[in-house]
Amino acid sequence: MLNPLTILLVTILADAMAMAVLLSLMRAEIPGVGYWIAANALAVVALLGAALQGHASPWLTLVVANGLFALALLLLLEGCLRFLGRRARPWPAYVGLLFVLVGMVYWTFVVPNFNARVALVSAYHASLYGALGVLMLTGRPANRPRYSFYFLATAALLLCLGHTTRGAMYGFHLLEQTSLMQVSMPNIVFLALGILAPPFLSIGVVMLAHDRLAERLERLANVDDLTGALSRRAFLEIGGALLNASLRTGLPVAIAIVDIDSFKAVNDTHGHAAGDQVLAHFAAFVARELRIGDVFGRLGGEEFGVLCPATSAGEAVVLLDRLRARLAAIMPGERPRGLRYTFSVGVDERRGGESLAQMMARADRALYAAKAAGRDRVVAA
Ligand code: GH3
Ligand code: MG
Ligand code: MG
Repeated sequence: MLNPLTILLVTILADAMAMAVLLSLMRAEIPGVGYWIAANALAVVALLGAALQGHASPWLTLVVANGLFALALLLLLEGCLRFLGRRARPWPAYVGLLFVLVGMVYWTFVVPNFNARVALVSAYHASLYGALGVLMLTGRPANRPRYSFYFLATAALLLCLGHTTRGAMYGFHLLEQTSLMQVSMPNIVFLALGILAPPFLSIGVVMLAHDRLAERLERLANVDDLTGALSRRAFLEIGGALLNASLRTGLPVAIAIVDIDSFKAVNDTHGHAAGDQVLAHFAAFVARELRIGDVFGRLGGEEFGVLCPATSAGEAVVLLDRLRARLAAIMPGERPRGLRYTFSVGVDERRGGESLAQMMARADRALYAAKAAGRDRVVAA
């Protein structure tokens, strides 16, 4: 039978299960997850308290239960803020919670007024849900898929709408009732809405956490740890896509294979750690100088690849030569351990519909020629 008490108990179970899933994500150290777990735990306690209505003191079943439930939602919102990297505490929401508690006490013990209580609590929940919905719609990092963010935003905004309606209906006495456990159609609908919220929101935040895990894996696979440049795999994949696109536009594409000169000597003379610093410095320098749309990856060791869309081989030679001059002009204080280093480049542009591998092989031969000619230079195939 769908009565308020069964709905409550089912929700408590769903909530406890959601908490178990969130606990399994603890080890991943995703910002916000701790808040979400605390929110679920509080919601379970709050709902248990509410389920005792009529059998225990109204202090517990009304004031404490409502206060904890509101705090649970507040912690969920705060977890989402942390998840998105926002540090500020939502103080107005804590002040609002204080008002809710004072109102609950006043309208329960001083001037008992069921409708006023419901309107107050609904207004508070509606504002937190509204804030959560807006946060999810506006806070999504541009490079992440929409799904989990929009799922949570939709749930939050529907709940905001439901609570607004509920608050208005009770606040303006369109509904009359004296207890939350009363079995009436509107009460069951509103109760179901409010009480199904925790499981829905939990699913939403679990999706967010999984998206963060996916993002980490994607980063591990696509970004070279030491230099921040694309990994070889990602460079070949993105480069291949760029070549396909250029085939449609008919614009040229230039490739440059860049290799740091006598790098082995840096390692041998100054140690492997100094070599690592040179690699990181070089990659940061190149990334700063390249244009938006250029693709830059570490092909292996001290060898890097640059793909320049809408650029001819001649233009790429000018670009890379300018880079070479700028690196040479960097002051000793801004070099890793004051070390001077140079690089050689082999450049070419795409011919016909050839593959990235074919282009790279030719640029590689040009690089070999640059090394043979004495290093610290750019050579076109
Ligand atoms: P060339 O001018 O002909 O390019 O000479 P080179 O010394 O730069 O080239 P070589 O291929 O002889 O040596 C490359 C060295 O780079 C050997 C390898 O130990 C070192 N190396 C490769 N990867 C890393 C890395 O991640 N960190 C450090 N520190 N060294 C690396
Ligand atoms: Mg080298
Ligand atoms: Mg090399």
